Amino acid sequence: MSSGPTCHCQSESGDYRALFAAHGLRCTRQRQVVYAALASTREHPTAESIYDTVRDESGSAGISLATVYNTLETLSNCGLCRKLATPGGPARFDALTDEHAHVVATDGSMMDLPEDLSDRVMAGVRDPELIAEIEKRLGVTVGRISIQLTAE
Ligand SMILES: [Zn+2]
Repeated sequence: MSSGPTCHCQSESGDYRALFAAHGLRCTRQRQVVYAALASTREHPTAESIYDTVRDESGSAGISLATVYNTLETLSNCGLCRKLATPGGPARFDALTDEHAHVVATDGSMMDLPEDLSDRVMAGVRDPELIAEIEKRLGVTVGRISIQLTAE
């Protein structure tokens, strides 16, 4: 199981240039604006929601919804954020890239499980012997473990 590149996503320094460079990304104004909007919330926003935030803050500054979508794809592909699928809803995005468990509420909103509870849930599936057996029996290499609890 790979933990991926070292991540500084929780940095409060606002040093986006170094952060982006560490992920092999050029630091553009659009990426900064979109990443800042994502990193400032724990709400796991959708692209539309980030677009609303960015539009309000920057007076749109030439950033279209399509640009927000594309930028979020780029950021997630480079490991700067996580793209989270939700059942029957739009993808949500998370600047917190450490493995942690989520809860999807009945209204479709997504929350982080509190850290202690997330650790307990994740511990059950982080067992190296379990992962090794899954990899052997299914012929796959397990990368990231993603756990999502759904409220009903
Ligand atoms: Zn999260």
